Amino acid sequence: MRTVTLIQGDGIGPEIIDSVKEIFKAAKVPIQWEEENAGQTTYEASGELIPQSLVDSINANKVALKGPITTPVKGGFRSINVQLRQMFDLYQNLRPCKSTPGVNSRFDNVDLVLFRENTEGLYSGLEIYDARLEMADSIARITKEGSVRIIKAAFEYARRNGRKKVTLVHKANILKHIGKIFLDAGMEVAEDYPGIAVDDKIIDNMCMQLVIKPEQFDVVVTTNLFGDILSDLGAGLVGGLGLVSGANIGDEIAIFEAVHGSAPDIAGKNMANPTAIIRSALLLLNYLELNDYHDAINTALQATLANKDECTADLGGSAGTSEFTQNIIKKL
Ligand code: NAD
Repeated sequence: MRTVTLIQGDGIGPEIIDSVKEIFKAAKVPIQWEEENAGQTTYEASGELIPQSLVDSINANKVALKGPITTPVKGGFRSINVQLRQMFDLYQNLRPCKSTPGVNSRFDNVDLVLFRENTEGLYSGLEIYDARLEMADSIARITKEGSVRIIKAAFEYARRNGRKKVTLVHKANILKHIGKIFLDAGMEVAEDYPGIAVDDKIIDNMCMQLVIKPEQFDVVVTTNLFGDILSDLGAGLVGGLGLVSGANIGDEIAIFEAVHGSAPDIAGKNMANPTAIIRSALLLLNYLELNDYHDAINTALQATLANKDECTADLGGSAGTSEFTQNIIKKL
């Protein structure tokens, strides 16, 4: 029995995490959860945004499943999500975007995997605010080492999964120094993978290409901010944020979470689509090499998604979060 840290998060977090717990229980997955939390919820209870017990739990278990955590806009505390990724050096943010049969979206042939660098770039936390001059600087730090390791992770993934091409996304025409470091690192790493094609795209063109012809992309690797934006764009190509999973992976520790946030507009209303967090939990099962459990749950999930009537409102159905969960469990 493997112990996995479970972070409910807030907003729709508790509802969608409950869905995973029920499905894993019904599928008899050999995992026991160690429940922790972070963010506003723990701050109100104990004065800690990231409790030490959570840090200890992740360090001990090495694997966590995390619900979304709200970040205040403008002022307030720094994103707990970003802090956790930096704290455990989870430099790879893996976000697969694949069309699902039966799910209505503009395209039915998307199958790309996005690798977002997760610790550097404009999310480095290097921000200076000069109140007197009403001026601020946010520094996008890119290092050769940080670029090489994320690009290598993308090529390794491509090799392991029989993927044919890796696309480097950047803005090296304008952001000359950081763009050059990232692109040069990409071309250097690509030399070690002669069987995999490499190309590059400037971020603005990449957005247009994705919206017009997404099937031309296979594995995509980019810096932190561009990756954050492209993954929501990718979610939009395959049916919305309710569907897209994610994983934050380092050399020893991994935290799995949906791409979407805490969706305060629908929190507590039994309306959230739990597919994205279920799929993140499926990535976790692959990571732990519990592949039979992965396949059983994935088959039941895909069969449920193929029938619009059994789905949640964002997919055009009338099921609530809990009914959708039961529709999956019935098929296990
Ligand atoms: P969001 O992803 O929470 O929601 C965007 C839109 O998508 C909303 O209309 C929402 O209802 C819908 N949506 C999202 N997930 C859904 C689901 N599972 N089922 C059905 N509809 C869904 O983005 P936001 O509103 O910009 O952010 C809300 C909060 O979440 C912010 O505080 C933000 O900082 C935080 N956030 C957290 C994470 C994370 O925990 N990793 C990621 C992104 C945003």
